[in-house]
Amino acid sequence: MEIDEYELNSIVEMKKPHPCVTHSKLFQVIRLGADIKIKCLGCGNIIMLPRNDFHKKVKKIIQK
Ligand SMILES: [Zn+2]
Repeated sequence: MEIDEYELNSIVEMKKPHPCVTHSKLFQVIRLGADIKIKCLGCGNIIMLPRNDFHKKVKKIIQK
């Protein structure tokens, strides 16, 4: 994917579902930097990933 296509508050789909009760693959980008913070849209938990990890694990941008 084109890695510059997301921005703050973008909704992204990850390759793997969040291991929570909702198994949501949809996350909202809530912080951009060397680390990316994303919030699971199912349970609301926040995950922090190094930027490189995020780029490996993201599948597509749902909404910019
Ligand atoms: Zn979750």
